[in-house]
Amino acid sequence: KEKVPSDIEIAMAQTPKPVAQLAKEMGLLPDELESYGKYKAKVELSVLDRLAHRKDGKYIVIAGITPTPLGEGKSTTTIGLAQALGAHLGRPAFACVRQPSQGPTFGIKGGAAGGGYSQVIPMDEFNLHLTGDIHAVTAANNLLAAALDARLFHEATQTDKGLFSRLVPSKKGKREFAPLMLKRLKKLGIDKTNPNDLTPEEINLFARLDIDAETITWNRVLDTNDRFLRKVTLGRNPTEKGHEREAGFDIAVASECMAVLALTTDLIDMRERLGNMVVATSKRGEAITADDIGVGGALAVLMKDTVKPNLMQTLEGTPVFVHAGPFANIAHGNSSILADRIALKLAGTEEGDSSDRVGYVLTEGGFGADMGMEKFCNIKCRVSGLKPDATVIVATTRALKMHGGGPEVTPGKPLADTYTKEDLVTLKEGCQNLARHIENSKKFGVKVIIAINRFSSDTPAELELIRQEALAAGADAAIVSNHWAEGGAGARALAEAVVATCEGESGFRFLYDLNLPIAQKIETICKEIYRAAGIELSEHASKQLETYTRQGYDNLPICMAKTQYSFSHDPSLKNAPSGFIVPIREVRLSAGAGFLYPILGDMQTMPGLGTRPGFWEVGLDPETGRVVGLF
Ligand code: ADP
Repeated sequence: KEKVPSDIEIAMAQTPKPVAQLAKEMGLLPDELESYGKYKAKVELSVLDRLAHRKDGKYIVIAGITPTPLGEGKSTTTIGLAQALGAHLGRPAFACVRQPSQGPTFGIKGGAAGGGYSQVIPMDEFNLHLTGDIHAVTAANNLLAAALDARLFHEATQTDKGLFSRLVPSKKGKREFAPLMLKRLKKLGIDKTNPNDLTPEEINLFARLDIDAETITWNRVLDTNDRFLRKVTLGRNPTEKGHEREAGFDIAVASECMAVLALTTDLIDMRERLGNMVVATSKRGEAITADDIGVGGALAVLMKDTVKPNLMQTLEGTPVFVHAGPFANIAHGNSSILADRIALKLAGTEEGDSSDRVGYVLTEGGFGADMGMEKFCNIKCRVSGLKPDATVIVATTRALKMHGGGPEVTPGKPLADTYTKEDLVTLKEGCQNLARHIENSKKFGVKVIIAINRFSSDTPAELELIRQEALAAGADAAIVSNHWAEGGAGARALAEAVVATCEGESGFRFLYDLNLPIAQKIETICKEIYRAAGIELSEHASKQLETYTRQGYDNLPICMAKTQYSFSHDPSLKNAPSGFIVPIREVRLSAGAGFLYPILGDMQTMPGLGTRPGFWEVGLDPETGRVVGLF
């Protein structure tokens, strides 16, 4: 059989169609498109109003088994399936994926454009800056961080009166509150609009946020795997007069601003959420928000263009929305609600349309189904009100063999024999991991299709074994798919199974009730999805839960920060472990995004670079100036 060229060679060999033509084919009006160069565009949210009357298309979430560090082909399958539905079955079909972070692109995993003959193009633009959304998210996050530390400093070095007269300066003999100051006064119960009317007690309350520096949860962010920024000391220059503080950096895609972008429903909603983000607790016990610091409006301005989804295309010229990029281990791991909504309307039907006009929206939930899909169901669908019709779980012989006892799979190192030769015993053992993901998906009431992502070394007996194990575990369908080597044509059978499975109504349900106490919601996920025996809250985490409950933030869904390499918090527990106790180290509050964010075990919110990162390969071709070495 012919060798499949490298991802970037395949991607570069294909000339994309102009984005305006793509937009026209999918039913967008010229006014609804904002081009960024020849092959990318942002799509205006006004299309949602124009198509509001349509019945949504079918909604499918693509998830995976517990992966190896190489990735098991969820993105590749999302794109391959979109190509099969769109270019081979002639259905309207939209892939909705996340924008990759530079962390993995230059670290271990490479880009996230898919692979082989199932990719988003131009893949170098997709994997790098795209339309700048991650930069805008980073800028917003860091403006808030700067505003917070500057405020702490000014409060520490000034009297009440000095602070007040600088916050509300006299201009031409007149003092006026800025609009966000009036909001703060209202929150404090001070019903005054003229600064001259405030009593000294009220001036103190208003001018001093009195932030307890120990409670600050707002980190700075950067879209680089920079492990040396995990913990830093701020304020070491003499100009900050000794007001030093220990702080840290997270990766930008794990920031709350990114989660807000992914979960928002329109520009005004985004503005509200950004203003409601909580950064710390005051010494008086009140939650301090971005709006209290006066910066919510500015954050929304920095992020205003990010709200429009980015349109790109597959190798076979079908549409792809690329929007928002939260990681699935340390964030909620799903692309934006807005892109899904627009795609569902474009894939939707008019009154009187026959059922074979309905289109399909394939949205990807990152890492294993215990991560991205659990959060898709309990967080994303809760906010959007949308219900998935089916889930596709991607499985590979490679990851199943690793769960069955195969040696560690390490990027850059050759694979052990188990992985390249037939080994039905190890494979069968590892199918327990797949079976558990199937059982878990059934708890959400959705249909489950297993996509067996075929690798060239897989044998027919191995592929058939996975199929049988999947069906025995309750999957509605289990299909071998060869889209990596053959593009959409290789996923035709998978696409037909998706069409057949999505007939009828969705039985979707949530896993837990929002009104349960926070610890109980965490425990439900740990027991039902991870199969833990229970949880153990650190003293710090228990205190945080008390604070959030007292402040009225207890009715939010839960976004677990957990390793992607195990159902448990411990990456070394492969396959289908049970009976373990999950340690909850810390719980952060994302009040603007709208979730609580427990951090399990020793999970880090800033990844690091290994000894041999992917960037060694990346460069520019001296003759053509084109990017080489991205994968
Ligand atoms: P995920 O989205 O699950 O992390 P990706 O789709 O990004 O995984 O795939 C990870 C890598 O594996 C990519 O480099 C891709 O080209 C490669 N890959 C995916 N499927 C196959 C396959 N069937 N055969 C060979 N390589 C594959």
